[in-house]
Amino acid sequence: MRNIDHFIGGSAVSAGGRHGEVFDPSKGEVQARVGLGSAADLGKAMDAARAAQPAWAATNPQRRARVMFNFKALVEQNMEELALILSSEHGKVIADAKGDIQRGLEVIEFSCGIPHALKGECTQGAGPGIDVYSMRQPLGIVAGITPFNFPAMIPMWMFGVAIACGNAFILKPSERDPSVPVRLAELMKEAGLPDGILQVVHGDKEMVDAILDDDDIRAISFVGSSDIAQYIYSRGTANGKRVQAFGGAKNHGIVMPDADLDMVVNDLTGAAFGSAGERCMALPVVVPVGEKTANDLREKLLPAIAALRIGVSTDPDAHYGPVVNAAHRQRIENYIQMGVDEGAELVVDGRGFSLQGHEKGFFIGPTLFDHVKPAMQTYQEEIFGPVLQIVRADGFEEAVRLPSEHQYGNGVAIFTRNGHAAREFAARVNVGMVGINVPIPVPVAYHTFGGWKRSGFGDINQHGMEGVRFWTKTKTITQRWPDGSATGENAFIIPTMG
Ligand code: NAD
Repeated sequence: MRNIDHFIGGSAVSAGGRHGEVFDPSKGEVQARVGLGSAADLGKAMDAARAAQPAWAATNPQRRARVMFNFKALVEQNMEELALILSSEHGKVIADAKGDIQRGLEVIEFSCGIPHALKGECTQGAGPGIDVYSMRQPLGIVAGITPFNFPAMIPMWMFGVAIACGNAFILKPSERDPSVPVRLAELMKEAGLPDGILQVVHGDKEMVDAILDDDDIRAISFVGSSDIAQYIYSRGTANGKRVQAFGGAKNHGIVMPDADLDMVVNDLTGAAFGSAGERCMALPVVVPVGEKTANDLREKLLPAIAALRIGVSTDPDAHYGPVVNAAHRQRIENYIQMGVDEGAELVVDGRGFSLQGHEKGFFIGPTLFDHVKPAMQTYQEEIFGPVLQIVRADGFEEAVRLPSEHQYGNGVAIFTRNGHAAREFAARVNVGMVGINVPIPVPVAYHTFGGWKRSGFGDINQHGMEGVRFWTKTKTITQRWPDGSATGENAFIIPTMG
């Protein structure tokens, strides 16, 4: 069986010790083993990073950017291979896997402009003969810990900016689909990145704890579920690190009575069921405003759901593929049963779905609940599967209140033709990213990504200029070049420019 090794110091390094299983979710079979590393493995990566980082930080930013340009071209050349590996370990369909890679590449494109983004500020003549200027310097060695659902995009969000800023980056990807992150690191090497600047260490909690406790790791970016995000944030910051930790989500789609329902149904089926609902920016909750809107929407949703095609990840006609593993499918099915027990109306039941010829695959059919109430546990928690819940709202105020009061605050969307309602909603809703007639409002790479409440711990967002801030520290220099004519000033009082 194929072994997936760490990528340390520019080479494959066997983890030895414990191993995890990597499945092909379409077949329901184990396809590889991944080493689950230890603090000793991390130590090897730290040695390589310590040796390489000072020279990388001293490499001028334009040269660092050139590596990013080369990498972008290499990823594009290898797109088919990367998408195939990604979909075979994750289960998302090939076109969606390419989208995963492309959204990551857009952050690499942003990183190609790093010389401009790193420029500091300067004030000439802040006082007599005095200039003040600031510079952004890399932190040193930094780390990223990533989830299974975007094995290309999220690592690239992190390492693209961090490495362009002059840091050495250690990536701990999800142990469920670890192959693409390793391929990306190999391509970065091929693009000209020195060994030790991008390394991949595999593992589970043991490796994560080693990263959290390593004194020489200056910052950690985490994306995953909320309880783990909170743990990473607490332990990482207690150890003196800069930490951003993004968590789970339960995004709402508000449908106003004046919305174009055909467009909404098209957007909603893609956003709720695409990638089998395994997206932190999925729309698993729809909030129609008014009974008529709810009834009309439900009527139009039913045939659209019936038309969804579920297939193996390489089926070019499939709308979505299997979920990541059997345990996750079981968890989703348990939530469906919980919804029934709580009294929601199960309109379409996706449990027990079986794909002919692929009976062992981890498939689950689309599921629709109506009359879901805010007090229900299935509403309050993240299901992370192809399950759409209708929560009927009486009016606009309730539609603003529902996502605002929810424990998660990642994304939200409003569908309306009324600019005033959309503007009010965007201004008032207590959620980090808002779509107006846009179902999955993931901001472009040169803006920033980040949720609120239990969807995000820490103050600084991913990518864009916030990413540059996260991966650098600011140094401010006040310099005086006297002309020799200075008279004796009182050196005992705090200097002012007055
Ligand atoms: P997860 O929390 O199980 O795993 C994320 C990472 O944490 C993995 O690398 C994993 O190895 C590690 N980990 C798991 N258990 C750990 C523990 N006990 N201690 C330390 N580390 C541990 O998340 P997942 O199932 O891989 O991904 C899905 C979750 O990620 C969903 O909740 C989804 O909403 C969230 N997500 C959030 C965003 C966002 O930007 N907010 C983006 C994508 C996914």
